[in-house]
Amino acid sequence: MANLPILEIPNPILRKRAKRVRSIDKKMLRIAYDMVDTLNAAGGIGLAANQIGQLWRIIVLQMPEEESSRIYFNPEIIKAEGTREVEEGCLSIPNYRGLVNRSVSIKFQGKDYSDNIVTFKAENLLSQAVEHEVDHLNGILYTDHLVAHSELYRVEEPDTSHTNEDSSNDDYLNSSSTIELK
Ligand SMILES: [Zn+2]
Repeated sequence: MANLPILEIPNPILRKRAKRVRSIDKKMLRIAYDMVDTLNAAGGIGLAANQIGQLWRIIVLQMPEEESSRIYFNPEIIKAEGTREVEEGCLSIPNYRGLVNRSVSIKFQGKDYSDNIVTFKAENLLSQAVEHEVDHLNGILYTDHLVAHSELYRVEEPDTSHTNEDSSNDDYLNSSSTIELK
C-alpha cells in the first residue's frame, strides 16, 4: 500500500476517459488500496484512479460518518434526478472551491472488491461525491459544472507579499484574478 502523489491540473491525464476494469484482479485491487491510502492521507472524501495516473474505472470514497472507505469498480450512475447548487472542491484543484450544479439524488451501480454488484440510491454528500468521482473517470472536472464562472473562489490566501486591498481577508476571487481552469 502506498500514499501516492495526486495529479493536479493541467495534467492531461485528468482529461482522459478511464477504461473499464475487465477483471478485479490483484493489480486492480492494488491500485484501489493505494487510492484509499492516498485519499486518507489527503483527508479527502473521494478519489478517482485518473488522479493517481491510472486510467481505470475505479473510485474510492471516504464518507465522514463511515469507518471504512468504499471501493467501486466500473461505477455507473444509472439514474439522476433533480438539480441543486452545492459547493465543491477537488484534490486535483487545490485551494479552490466552486458552486456547481449537481443532482438531488442518483441511483448507483458498481462492483465491490469481491466482484459483487452493488446498487444504491444516494442523496446529499454521497450523491455529490459519486457524481464528482464518476465525472473524473470521464475526464470531467467540477469546474465544468460551475453555476457561473465567478462561482470559483480561493480558499487560501496564496500570497501575502502585497495585501494593500481592503478585501484581503475575503477569499472570494474577483474577476481580475479569476483563473482559467480548462
Ligand atoms: Zn476531484
